Amino acid sequence: MNQRYSQSSTAHESAKVLLPGGVNSPVRALRSVGGVPFFASRGSGPYLWDVDGNRYVDYIGAYGPLVLGHADPRVVEATAAALQEGTAFGAPTVRETELAELVAQLVPGVERLRLVNSGTEATMSAIRVARGATDRAKIIKFNGCYHGHADYLLVKAGSGALTFGQPDSAGVPAGAAADTLVADYNNLDSVERLLAANPDSVAAIIVEPVPGNMGVIPPAEHFLSGLRDLCNTHGTLLIFDEVMSGFRVHLNGAQALYGVQPDLTCLGKVIGGGLPVGAYGGRADLMACVAPEGPVYQAGTLSGNPLSVAAGIATLSALLTEGTFDAIVDHTSTLCEGIRTAAIHAGVSVCVQQVGTMFTTFFSPKDSIGGLSDVQECDFDAFKTFFHTMRDHGINLPPSQYEACFVSAAHDASSLQQTLDAVGHALTAVANR
Ligand code: PMP
Repeated sequence: MNQRYSQSSTAHESAKVLLPGGVNSPVRALRSVGGVPFFASRGSGPYLWDVDGNRYVDYIGAYGPLVLGHADPRVVEATAAALQEGTAFGAPTVRETELAELVAQLVPGVERLRLVNSGTEATMSAIRVARGATDRAKIIKFNGCYHGHADYLLVKAGSGALTFGQPDSAGVPAGAAADTLVADYNNLDSVERLLAANPDSVAAIIVEPVPGNMGVIPPAEHFLSGLRDLCNTHGTLLIFDEVMSGFRVHLNGAQALYGVQPDLTCLGKVIGGGLPVGAYGGRADLMACVAPEGPVYQAGTLSGNPLSVAAGIATLSALLTEGTFDAIVDHTSTLCEGIRTAAIHAGVSVCVQQVGTMFTTFFSPKDSIGGLSDVQECDFDAFKTFFHTMRDHGINLPPSQYEACFVSAAHDASSLQQTLDAVGHALTAVANR
């Protein structure tokens, strides 16, 4: 056993007795790269510590939410103050409206919204609204896009589902997935064919406008606007799942970056600053379908939780301070450029793709990775060596080629330099396999 992770190893053995895989979300078990998952003890700024006392520069950022870094003092203070006032009320609070105002001001397609507890709830609820508003049952999703773990969305899903080589989960009845049609990302023809074959029956197209769940993949020119046009032609609603891309690819979401307005938007992660949250919103007429104003039922005991809302307001407010977002994007670019240069020196083929504050290093000789089939052709063995060498040098990367790395406002010159030093070692290890 690697002594560096001995306490984590012990903790994992104990956890496995009660928790499947010793974890509460599958990707954390490191099954695709092997090795002991480290057990986290605390985080501060760009760093995370494990129970063995190892320090890591963290590029997981809780899989997206921690855009300010770990335990940002502004977020901690706001959340602690809210905690003193009580953890849940079962009654509306003024801060929920404040967070809603912030989100509606920032995200062009969101006129009205509802807060929920997770990204999964956001996508499930948005699809229910789309089905209720159009009185149609079918939806189109894309191969490799992940939208949470609702039955009918676990079809050709990305991220953890792909990592386990089992795109469709056991326990999903055929009937639950029967209304889910699957198209190829960045391929408008595949969408057009499905719409033509299912006239007047597709309620919505749901898409990660910038997928992060098969690694970071930018949309091809005209892909998102093409989806918008197809939706307009077929009376189908367009849902952007910005749970990951929201406040990550652009301060105003992928919809602002690419100038395409969806009918409904799903959010999560950053808007809760690391506490459980999600939101769905969009056109005012569609959101008027939601109970109690309309017939589409959706509810939640802890929805709009005061701690999550306080953390979310603090996070978004800090992110809005002059220059903050642009500085994260600049740091991300510096890192991506450094990885490309180091790969040339090491003689390793990589394709580093960045959108805003997210990036993925694909081990591929291709100039660009445009969809799932490109990702599936990557050198997964190279990724595995890269991942473990980085981790042994104190850099925490997501443990799968199918994930995005997240940079935060707390990543500074020193943590970036430490990362690039480790990248040099890790790419040499890849070259010398
Ligand atoms: N949609 C997207 C695009 C996501 O990345 C995720 C989570 N990674 C979800 C939905 C589901 O969110 P949650 O894990 O909060 O349920």
